[in-house]
Amino acid sequence: MKLDTKSLRYLTPEDWRVLIAVEMGSRNHEIVPTTLIDRTARLKGGSSGVHRSISTLAKTGLIARVKEAKYDGYRLTYGGLDYLAMHTYSQKDVVYSVGHRVGVGKESDIVMVAAKTGEQRILKIHRLGRISFRTVKTNRDYLRKRQGGSWMYLSRLSAMREYAFLEALREEGFPVPEPFAQSRHTIVMSFIDNALPLRQVSEVPDVAGLYADIIGLILRLARHGLIHGDFNEFNIMIQEQKVEKHSSKAASKQAGSEESAAGRSQIKEDADEEEALATVPILIDFPQMVSMEHRNAEMYFDRDVACVKRFFERRFHFTSTQPGPFYKDALAIVGKNGAKRIDIAVEASGFTKKMSKDLEAAIAEQRDNELADVDDEDDDEDEEDDEDEDEDDDNETGEQEDKVTIIGEQQTTLADDVAEKMPQ
Ligand code: ADP
Ligand code: MG
Repeated sequence: MKLDTKSLRYLTPEDWRVLIAVEMGSRNHEIVPTTLIDRTARLKGGSSGVHRSISTLAKTGLIARVKEAKYDGYRLTYGGLDYLAMHTYSQKDVVYSVGHRVGVGKESDIVMVAAKTGEQRILKIHRLGRISFRTVKTNRDYLRKRQGGSWMYLSRLSAMREYAFLEALREEGFPVPEPFAQSRHTIVMSFIDNALPLRQVSEVPDVAGLYADIIGLILRLARHGLIHGDFNEFNIMIQEQKVEKHSSKAASKQAGSEESAAGRSQIKEDADEEEALATVPILIDFPQMVSMEHRNAEMYFDRDVACVKRFFERRFHFTSTQPGPFYKDALAIVGKNGAKRIDIAVEASGFTKKMSKDLEAAIAEQRDNELADVDDEDDDEDEEDDEDEDEDDDNETGEQEDKVTIIGEQQTTLADDVAEKMPQ
């Protein structure tokens, strides 16, 4: 689903208040009764325009009337939740303008946004639960109602988890984007400039070096108790970094990494130049990360390793002379050399067992759907990139480039007490 910012600037403070009232009501009600919306919005300082706002919001598609309900009510739509998150970012000066969509995954929309300074950032909108919803054929109405509650919960859980891992990984010096903020089902992080997903890279100066760097990252994650869990060629960005000759340290610093892969990274030197180019892998996409002590850890670990090996064979015709790495060896280095156990820290930071289980189940289900979708195309995937271009076309929206919506200038100042109580 596309992030549609058309009406973002035109909503009045009262509209926002009503939208927040619907969001609050959704915590306990699948369909929020109109009377409850009315009461909540008025309590928050509203006057008489609640019904006018309800009608505006419904027309804009931010809330939807639920007709089959026994009582008159509304539910928040994806669009409504998107707006609430954007509103929060705008108020916190995290996002000033919204640009084009750079990608649409099965589980997310990736949108280019900018801070007031003009700095480009990435907004990732988690959309867990929408695929499985589409594939459900029986009991549609019943499930639709249930799904209404759970997509919000699952997408938000996914964003919270990704943000927690990003923060922890960044702190430990991993080459990952810088996290800026999280709101509801979305996160804002730094834009990885000058980089392509490994999937779109056809040539590198030193294939063996890059392979070693990437496997090194799998082991480095393991030392911190983690398995990425979706370590494929779309989730590894390859960034070209300029480094001074013989000084690969500079590259590792830029990537936010102290002992980054770039430390050993392959460097292309130009005989006459003072600068050389290093290709540095940067990791993204973390909601599905699991602990090295997860009951299926070995399967996840082996799958990540196999994914890298398979890609390097297909794309670069490269096979490592070294077998593995193997799970049991990786398990032996968990927590070694004083490495902080990120798996334990994140689990302890407000995620209940039930939350982890819910998210895991949803991600597994989504993955099954995805695999069913790509099975055919996977067979004829050669090293040829034609297919990639097609995918890119799919991912881009035709009308994008110059379409930037300024959201920072709206006069929608919510009462402070409401803003504070808004869910993050
Ligand atoms: P999904 O969970 O849908 O797979 P990802 O986080 O993997 O979402 O992002 C999808 C794509 O968007 C990536 O393959 C990458 O091309 C692009 N992308 C995501 N985050 C960033 C970022 N911080 N900087 C640049 N590109 C990004
Ligand atoms: Mg991804």
